[in-house]
Amino acid sequence: MNVNTILHVKGREVISVSPDTIILELTKIFTENKIGSIVVLENGRLAGIVSERDVVRAISQQGPEVLNETVNSIMTSDVVTCGGGDTIDQIMSIMTSGRFRHMPVIEDGHLSGIISIGDVVQQRIAEAELEASAMRSYIATG
Ligand code: AMP
Repeated sequence: MNVNTILHVKGREVISVSPDTIILELTKIFTENKIGSIVVLENGRLAGIVSERDVVRAISQQGPEVLNETVNSIMTSDVVTCGGGDTIDQIMSIMTSGRFRHMPVIEDGHLSGIISIGDVVQQRIAEAELEASAMRSYIATG
């Protein structure tokens, strides 16, 4: 099971913003799309990632006026990405040690999806259920 297995089910759509998006506008995009992290693209190139956590941190440090500033002032520019062939175990380990819950997927130099910790957990549960069901039928027919 790898990243492509997850993307095959959830799709490859990636919601993105430009670095000059106003942060208040960003919060509306989080809410409307029920997501917690958004990729920042500049001229089609991955320029950063910004999550709800960045917005909360900025408000707590700088006050609510920060909502009128632009996304590039709070985004993380040093983005950790993954490839379609990376395994679920690898992704879990990178997300755990990096303390983030989202990873853009890059294939042939292009953004081709995004994986969240929720997607990874869902995949893990599906695998465990499949294993349990195989064990049950093995026991019943054995
Ligand atoms: P998250 O847990 O994904 O909401 O993000 C927590 C923090 O890590 C925020 O500061 C994000 O900007 C940052 N972050 C999220 N995803 C990544 C990633 N793939 N690479 C680097 N930083 C990230």
